[in-house]
Amino acid sequence: METAQTTQQSATQSAWNKRPLIISGPCSAETEEQVIATAQRLANTGKVDVLRAGIWKPRTKPGMFEGIGAKGLPWLQQAKKITGLPTTVEVATGKQVEDALTFDVDILWVGARTTVNPFSVQEVADALRGVDVPVLIKNPINPDLELWQGAVERISRAGIKQVGLIHRGFSSYGNTDFRNAPMWHLAIEMKRRLPGLPIINDPSHICGRRDILQATAQKAIDLDFDGLMIESHIDPDNAWSDAKQQITPERMGEMVANIRWRKEDTSSEEYHVNLEKLRQQINNLDDELMQILSQRMKVAEKIGQYKKDNNITILQTNRWNNILDRAYAKGEKLGLSKDFVTRYFDAVHMESIHHQNKIMKQ
Ligand code: PEP
Ligand code: MN
Repeated sequence: METAQTTQQSATQSAWNKRPLIISGPCSAETEEQVIATAQRLANTGKVDVLRAGIWKPRTKPGMFEGIGAKGLPWLQQAKKITGLPTTVEVATGKQVEDALTFDVDILWVGARTTVNPFSVQEVADALRGVDVPVLIKNPINPDLELWQGAVERISRAGIKQVGLIHRGFSSYGNTDFRNAPMWHLAIEMKRRLPGLPIINDPSHICGRRDILQATAQKAIDLDFDGLMIESHIDPDNAWSDAKQQITPERMGEMVANIRWRKEDTSSEEYHVNLEKLRQQINNLDDELMQILSQRMKVAEKIGQYKKDNNITILQTNRWNNILDRAYAKGEKLGLSKDFVTRYFDAVHMESIHHQNKIMKQ
């Protein structure tokens, strides 16, 4: 016989396994009405798989809204009862893990400010021993993959079988466009290191503003992320935390509907055979390019030797302008953009100077 508990567990499992996995809800649970209205409006969009809400909020400065605390957990329980959506909450201490589980939170997540601190991650891991609950781990605030991976290992070693990643961007001083710089290559490197783990993108905390959420979410999907976590609020401008980045549940539904979904792969044999042939061509061409570049450097070294013997400087500006002019003219005919030609020749030129410098120093 199916009990209410096993029904809920299977609802959580099907959400966890769904691709794309869409998680949405307010940055913070504020009032019972706000949590329930958000959940209902999200459920009505038909685009959401899991309801999120921050209950304990790690804030940069004291005096900011630090979350409603355990008092908000029954609101989430109620929202789940009404909508059937599984819930997820951020946990940072052993006590928070216990409280969240007492109120049947279905998926836990470790926040960016916790992932940076191995003491806290270990405390959360210890509280999870013997518990069967999926856990999502946000990247640490600073761009340090070892910390992110270390947190995954601590949670996994506590016996948690279902672990996933959330990419929410990295703090970087003086960065203009994003609240947290995405540094996509770091998320891609985590995917490479931990291929079995789902990775969800959190465009809300990356962007910190509404106008670039859609483009950022699209980029994540184009990079084959497994899902999105997007903050939504019934009255975004008046949210008690992260007001600038939250959107209404309806807008969130539209955003998900507007995304162009692409598949990473197809089972078509012909497609794979053809793709493999083309990739082989690319590999051969890359090998040839490297050979030619190496030959070019050897000629540069000979020139370096010759200049040294004649006591001439490495750089002759005229010659360099001449190389660039030739390259632009040729590049245009060959369909290579001026920007690419500039960057390519800059790199080649720097490498040549480096080789010639070695000769000069000998
Ligand atoms: C949040 O999800 O509301 C949050 C606090 O995120 P992060 O840990 O990414 O800053
Ligand atoms: Mn937030």
